[in-house]
Amino acid sequence: MKLYSTNNTAASVSFKEAVFNSMPQDKGLYMPVNIPQLDPEFISNLDKYTLPEIAFRVAKNLLGDAVPEADLKALIEDAINFDAPVVELEEDVYVLELFHGPSLAFKDFGARFMSRIMSYFLEAGEKQLDVLVATSGDTGGAVALGFLGVPNTRVTILYPKGKVSGIQEQQLTTNGQNIRALEVEGTFDDCQSLVKQAFTDAELNAEFRLTSANSINIARLVPQTFYYFNAYAQLLRQGKSKVVFAVPSGNFGNIGAGLLAWKMGLPIEQFIAATNANDTVPAFLKTGVYEPKPSVQTISNAMDVGNPSNWVRIADLFKEDTEALKKLIIGYSYDDAETVTAIEQVYDDYQYVVCPHTAIAWQALKDWQIRNSENDAAGVFLSTAHPCKFPDVIPARVASKIVVPEVVKELEGKAKQAVELSTDFADFKAYLLANK
Ligand SMILES: *Cc1c(COP(=O)(O)O)cnc(C)c1O
Repeated sequence: MKLYSTNNTAASVSFKEAVFNSMPQDKGLYMPVNIPQLDPEFISNLDKYTLPEIAFRVAKNLLGDAVPEADLKALIEDAINFDAPVVELEEDVYVLELFHGPSLAFKDFGARFMSRIMSYFLEAGEKQLDVLVATSGDTGGAVALGFLGVPNTRVTILYPKGKVSGIQEQQLTTNGQNIRALEVEGTFDDCQSLVKQAFTDAELNAEFRLTSANSINIARLVPQTFYYFNAYAQLLRQGKSKVVFAVPSGNFGNIGAGLLAWKMGLPIEQFIAATNANDTVPAFLKTGVYEPKPSVQTISNAMDVGNPSNWVRIADLFKEDTEALKKLIIGYSYDDAETVTAIEQVYDDYQYVVCPHTAIAWQALKDWQIRNSENDAAGVFLSTAHPCKFPDVIPARVASKIVVPEVVKELEGKAKQAVELSTDFADFKAYLLANK
């Protein structure tokens, strides 16, 4: 597999280089030079395959000989060791549950695959990989649990004190082993700024092999294509071969992976990009003007992104053909009041509890279906996180119906291990150097 930068299509790098660099020097994003089509025979027979089998075929197709087959197979079986079921809620309304991984959010697909790819590419005797990650909640948990116990890696998470949910904090701080948590007396932006400074600090770079395991890493995008194919497999088993996907979107990595799956030949009729008040993309799809804005805070905070980092990848897939892009992707956005109403409506209609991000995708799907009532495609909305991670924003009568998964109950007995830190970079640096 070769990859180019969206800012310079002339030069290309190997998959291994793209994984360790995360981002090209020119600040573009890595994209595959070749996006090969899957065999149509395979696609129309997807219902005969399991998720790991599908994942292997898709990954093999994309990565080529970057990882030998037997290693790739083992890596996928280890990384994707949980399910992504499609559940029917009413005729032509299905939910794709992506919260059955260890951190109860879809980011587990990306984080687990990336951690294992990185560990795999580290050669014998190479210096330990030090992953620094700032989190506002969901990313840190997925990265921590993704790298937990992965040889020759260590993760340092910085999170804002008092600003993540109870379960998120437990996921960040109770791991031990190769995971360390730093509780910063500040905001998410302070955490991010500490991490950024570390990456440009000469002394730290001489001492450690630092990486960001960033959400724009291509190794996080690849495994997110798997569940689109696997969802289609499940629909085929129900006699459905036409599908639209509604995707709760922030940085647009999730929907970007869906578009990659489409490019590989998965026959998806329509993508519905569902956002909260951070509506840069829906506004662009309506007006044709792409205008990034500062993010605004909402109750679906994992989607509070004013300038979605993966959008350049999506634009790149369509090159200059904005009309084709606007035809395939429809945007909808909702404010917090509408989000709460949607959570209640989903519960009242199906006795099913969704997280605020997922509620937005459901509402977008329903609104699309009303406007396209002649279309008989199966509508699938992606559930990106388990509702138990966001109890405070779900109305009490609905929140009381949440069935808390076993893994969360197990967290409760574990002791919190976190080191408190100021927002002063000198303190962070001193911590890192004192704890080699
Ligand atoms: C990260 C996240 C999103 C947004 O996904 P993108 O790939 O950034 O668009 C949506 N929902 C939840 C729960 C998330 O954690």
